[in-house]
Amino acid sequence: MVNFRAVQGNAVSALRRVNIYVPRSVVNSAGTSVSLRSLMNVREGVCEMARMSAERDLVVGMGGNWSGVKDGIVALKASGFRAATLTPEQCPLIDLATGEVIPLIGEKLLKPSCEKPMHLATYIARPDVKFVCHTHPTYATVFATLGYPMEPFTPDFVAVLKTDRAIPVFKYVGPASENLAKVIVENIKMNNAVLMGNHGLFTVGGNALEAFDRTHLVEVHAKILLEMASLAASEGKDLSQMDYALPMEERLALLGSDFEKYRQQLAAGGQ
Ligand SMILES: [Zn+2]
Repeated sequence: MVNFRAVQGNAVSALRRVNIYVPRSVVNSAGTSVSLRSLMNVREGVCEMARMSAERDLVVGMGGNWSGVKDGIVALKASGFRAATLTPEQCPLIDLATGEVIPLIGEKLLKPSCEKPMHLATYIARPDVKFVCHTHPTYATVFATLGYPMEPFTPDFVAVLKTDRAIPVFKYVGPASENLAKVIVENIKMNNAVLMGNHGLFTVGGNALEAFDRTHLVEVHAKILLEMASLAASEGKDLSQMDYALPMEERLALLGSDFEKYRQQLAAGGQ
């Protein structure tokens, strides 16, 4: 794996050698200074989500977008780059309050993904969210497009998505619009995943791995459900006639269990 920190470090060192002043932090519009080192960690997390999404075929080519936030500064995939080979320098920094790109010495000024509105709106609506993963996974998109609800039906579903409810689905809204940002916010306020009709999947997390795991989990569970639907069809039934969902008391028991609280503590540390 490329050592991104070393690559950026070399460029910055070269500038410093010829006495070009390179700041070690950026200041957000609220006046808070945020170190570039900590923002590099966020950018690396964004690249990790993009790479894992590409490895699992959750996006094609330049599709999908990923972001992270730290102290009011968002790192978002730039438009026109491929997920599989995304680098931190291809994740421009954006002031969350103004939406403006923050120029960095030694780096090309790149245009952020056209889906910037839905990423920024999410961080404003959910201050607990630190990373966003948006992909176009095959099986989840089937459920999203047909508008089928995905009820919790395994302990992992409840635990990873931290929910006792079905994943919400909304009908197609054109990409890159303020309207899409509005619909995402309505759904993401109370959920960690939302299915986007005729489009894909949007998940959030307290760290990059948590946001990505939620995407991966929804896709795997969509695949299981489609296998079940195909078995049901062979018996002349449809999925709504299959008693597959976990009972509500079991979902609540899982969310309140000691082992799950312990697992959540580990997840919060990004493990
Ligand atoms: Zn998309």
